[in-house]
Amino acid sequence: MQAVPSEFLAINRKKRAQEPFLELDLRPAEERVCDFNEVVIGFTPEQAQIEAARCIHCPDPAPCMVACPTHNDIPSAMWLIEQGRFAEAAKLYHETSSLPEVCGRVCPHEQLCEGSCVLNKTGEPVITGQLEVFALTQERILEPYTPEIAPKTGHKVAIVGAGPAGLGCADQLLRLGHDVTLFDSKPAPGGLLVYGIPNFKLSKDVFFERWRDMEKLGAKFVGNTYVGRDKTIDEILAEGFDAMFVGVGSGIDAPMDIPGEDLDGVYEATDYLIRGNVSGDDLPKDKEALPNLGNDVVVIGGGDTASDCLRTSVRMGIENVTCLYRRTESEMPGSAKDRKLAKQEGAKYRFLTQPVQFIAGEDGKLAAVECIEMKLGEPDSSGRRRPVPVEGSNFSVPATTAVKALGYWPDEIIGKTTPDYEVDKWGLTIVKDSETGQTSRENIFAGGDGVTGPDLVVTAMVAGKKSAMAIDEYLKSKK
Ligand SMILES: Cc1cc2nc3c(=O)[nH]c(=O)nc-3n(C[C@H](O)[C@H](O)[C@H](O)COP(=O)(O)OP(=O)(O)OC[C@H]3O[C@@H](n4cnc5c(N)ncnc54)[C@H](O)[C@@H]3O)c2cc1C
Repeated sequence: MQAVPSEFLAINRKKRAQEPFLELDLRPAEERVCDFNEVVIGFTPEQAQIEAARCIHCPDPAPCMVACPTHNDIPSAMWLIEQGRFAEAAKLYHETSSLPEVCGRVCPHEQLCEGSCVLNKTGEPVITGQLEVFALTQERILEPYTPEIAPKTGHKVAIVGAGPAGLGCADQLLRLGHDVTLFDSKPAPGGLLVYGIPNFKLSKDVFFERWRDMEKLGAKFVGNTYVGRDKTIDEILAEGFDAMFVGVGSGIDAPMDIPGEDLDGVYEATDYLIRGNVSGDDLPKDKEALPNLGNDVVVIGGGDTASDCLRTSVRMGIENVTCLYRRTESEMPGSAKDRKLAKQEGAKYRFLTQPVQFIAGEDGKLAAVECIEMKLGEPDSSGRRRPVPVEGSNFSVPATTAVKALGYWPDEIIGKTTPDYEVDKWGLTIVKDSETGQTSRENIFAGGDGVTGPDLVVTAMVAGKKSAMAIDEYLKSKK
C-alpha cells in the first residue's frame, strides 16, 4: 500500500468517519426508462474528492482490499483521488485489474469492497465502486493509459472465449510479451459484458474502449468460431500455439421442462438480452432485433438476470412487465439494489408463483402462463425455505411474451470434442489447481464460469490473470 502521511492518519481518522455521506446520483426513473443509457450519474471532481476523503485508511491489510477478489489498493486510490491525482489513482487500479472501468460498474460492491468497509459499523461505506469508475473516466480524458510491456518472447498463446476470463488472461500475457489470439463464437469480444449485461448497467462503448487498448498491445480476435464445431481445440493448437487458455463461460440457459416452452413468444434470457441490447455488426448472424412483444411481458426467475430482463422490457415500452418468482422476496438470490431500480422503473413482482404451463391463444402464439400458488416449506440444502405447491390453486397470468431467467449450465461441446480433456458430469472443466487453472492437458489452462459455474465478472477476470502467470511459467519451463 502507498504511504499516506502518518500525521494525517493520526489526526484525521476519527473526524473522517463522521464526514457526511454523498448519495450517488441516479437519473430519474421516468427519464431512464426512455433509453438504454447508464443509470448512474458519475461524480464531479469535487464530489469525488469529498467522497474519497471519507476513507479512514485502515491499517494494512485494509478490509476492502481483502474483500476485492483482485485486491485493488483501494485506500491508496482514495488518497490519490482526494488529492486530485485522478490519473495516478487510475494507474493503481490498472496494476491489479484488467477491466477496472467494468468492475467499477458491475461488481456487487455491497458484497465486496463496500460491504467490508469499516464505516458500515457507524453509517454508510465509502462508495469505492463509483470512485473507481470516476478515476478511470478522468484518466481517459487527461492521460490515456499505456502499460509497460515486456520484450516479445516469441511464444504464441491461443485463448478460447473472449469474456472476462479470456480477457484477463490475454491482458496479462500481452504485458508479459507473449503473442495472443482470442477465438470466440460471437462476432465481437466481451463475452457476457457485451452479450448479457445490459447497456444501462455497462455501456458497450466503455468495454470497447478497453478492448481497443488491448488491441493496441497486440491482441488479435477471431470471431464467429464455435470451437468444438468449426474447429477443435487440437486443430487450433496445431496452428502453432504453444499453450491455450479456455474461458468459455457457462452460457447455456437452464430449461423449465414444462409444456409450451417452444411456443412463439417464449424466450430464453440470453437470447432476449442479446436481441434487446446488441445491434449492428455485433449482433450474431443467427439473431435479429426482438419483434413486437405485445403488452404483457412476464419474466420467470429471481436472480440478477431476471432483473436485467425486466429492466430491458420496460425500456422497450412494454405496458405490463411482471416478475414471477416461486418463493418470497426475502429468498430472492438477485441483488436488492437492482430490484429496487427495477421497481422504480415500473416492474411488478408476483411472489409464491410457479409457472406450470405456457398456454397458446387462437393464433398459436403465447397468450398466458398457467401458474400455481406456492407456500414456503422446510429449508432446503441452500438454507432457503423450499417452495411447496398449494394444491388446486392454479390460475392464469396474461402474457404476450415470457422470458425464462432460471440460471445457466455449461456447454459440453469442448469436453466432448477434446481428447483427454477432463470435465465433470455437468460439463465444467476440471482443473488440477485453482491457482493455475491447469487442466488434464499439460499446455491447456482454464478459468472463469466454465470452471466454477456462474459467478462474477471480477472472479472470472482474476482466474484468467492467474492462469496467465501459470502459462508464463509453463512456457519458460519449456524453453
Ligand atoms: C444477464 C447477466 C448479467 C450479469 N450481470 C453481472 C453483473 O452485473 N456483475 C457481475 O459481476 N457479473 C454479472 N454476471 C456474471 C458474469 O457476466 C459472468 O460471471 C462472467 O461474464 C464470466 O466470465 P467468463 O469469461 O467466464 O464467461 P463469459 O462472459 O460467458 O464469456 C465466455 C465466452 O466464451 C465464448 N464461448 C463459449 N463457448 C465457446 C466455444 N465453444 N467456442 C468459442 N467461444 C465460446 C462465449 O461466446 C463468450 O464470449 C451476469 C451474467 C448474466 C448472464
